[in-house]
Amino acid sequence: MTILEGNNLSKHYTVRGSRVDALAGVSFALSDGEILGIVGESGSGKSTLLRLISGLEAPDGGELLLDGAPLPAKRTREHYRAIQMIFQDATGSFHPRRSIASSIRESVRNLCGRDAACDLAALSVRVGLEPELVERLPGNLSGGQCQRFAIARAVAVSPRILLCDEITSALDVSSQAQVLRLLSDVCRENHMSAVFVSHDIAVVRCVCDRVMVLRGGRLVESGGAEEIVTAPAEDYTKELISSVLEIDEAYMTEITERIEHYWTQRAHDFNTVRQNELRDAISGRWMAEMGVFLPQNRPLDVLDAGTGTGYFAILLAKAGHRVTGIDLTPAMLAEAEATARTEGLAIRFLRMDVQRTDFPDESFDAVVTRNLTWTLPDPEAAYREWFRLLRPGGVLLNFDAAYAENVRHQNQRKSYVTEKDVYGHIGITPALSEENAEITLSVPASRHARPAWDLALAAAAGFSEVAADETAGARILQEKDLADAPLFLLRAVK
Ligand code: ADP
Ligand code: MG
Repeated sequence: MTILEGNNLSKHYTVRGSRVDALAGVSFALSDGEILGIVGESGSGKSTLLRLISGLEAPDGGELLLDGAPLPAKRTREHYRAIQMIFQDATGSFHPRRSIASSIRESVRNLCGRDAACDLAALSVRVGLEPELVERLPGNLSGGQCQRFAIARAVAVSPRILLCDEITSALDVSSQAQVLRLLSDVCRENHMSAVFVSHDIAVVRCVCDRVMVLRGGRLVESGGAEEIVTAPAEDYTKELISSVLEIDEAYMTEITERIEHYWTQRAHDFNTVRQNELRDAISGRWMAEMGVFLPQNRPLDVLDAGTGTGYFAILLAKAGHRVTGIDLTPAMLAEAEATARTEGLAIRFLRMDVQRTDFPDESFDAVVTRNLTWTLPDPEAAYREWFRLLRPGGVLLNFDAAYAENVRHQNQRKSYVTEKDVYGHIGITPALSEENAEITLSVPASRHARPAWDLALAAAAGFSEVAADETAGARILQEKDLADAPLFLLRAVK
């Protein structure tokens, strides 16, 4: 059901005597419970549209309807309560010399009445912050914390629609992911709708159900978030997409440091898990799965990409192959080397990023990898790199799963990693689990349906005979606690 509707909205400004059409006849409909994305380059009219919806400014032409009734030029308190805005500059959106608590209470008093209840502790917890923090001044909180409190302030008045203007643009990658997840959660829990504005189409895709593309104050195209991103009809949208698909170096550096930090802390316990696995019947089952696709009659040059504590490398070396294991985290490689020494196996372990290795073209007959692509910041680059490293006829075996929480689809959020303190996850503390969630939420895998997306990436990288087997998990894990995890095997041939 449509809750908010805009018909033929226009707004112009006069800048030094000349007319700027910030919005020129834009129409839209927002459904109950929907998150509608507005995307477009700077100056395309996104903020203007939100200002019109919020009532901060009046349109020159066109009309806005809430529940089918026109919104008046002079809004009532009830209107202001129903439509809440969240801004890019979260810190600046709070009074600088008042505690966050005082600002939130004031907003509730103004919009809901003097005696309205406001449980600040519960609100803080809901947005993932320690209740004590609410007594601080905005300047004594991080941008991400302020943005969570800005969401809390909006939610406190039980609005029906949240207007979000570039609310993650000023935040670092992991705070961005947390704020997006929070927004998506509070909307669903409280059955709120949202209009979510961003210049970054990747961010929009991550939280929105539907997307409208604006350019120069006009609508370019609109449609389902996934359709717009995967199959844009207009050249302008294609340009927007390709400009954000270029992976930002600062993001790569930050996320790479986070991944290494996380795995450095986990190296020891993780090694215990894999040592147990090496002695378990499960090793035979992993080898059987790989054996189907690896020629048995001769030793192969195999790359174990993201070898971790060397599990696949050790199995494959025992089977007589010449194995190289690469990983980002020295602490993991140290565990792998120790095991190889104990087992008397000659394996080359190197510290390298699987997305950009130092090996010459066509160095390997096979690339194997396990539980890696779901945490990569640039899996497209990884598939291209593996294609480059394989000899013609060489095979890629990627065992992975849709472990990553999907920001948008609640029902895909099976947190195997956070909820099950079981097989494979010994020693994961709540803090580590949170660190891991931050990583996975900020990488592309959490925004895509898998393994369909992986198949497309492998094919785009040049592989042929690309296939995914989603029954691999049940065969390999069997009685283990993760037997119901969506483990799949992607196989591809160069
Ligand atoms: P976006 O949020 O997509 O970056 P805006 O809605 O802020 O775009 O701006 C749309 C156009 O309107 C731009 O050309 C901008 O310069 C102009 N504009 C916006 N607000 C004002 C204003 N208060 N006075 C004059 N021009 C404005
Ligand atoms: Mg703007």
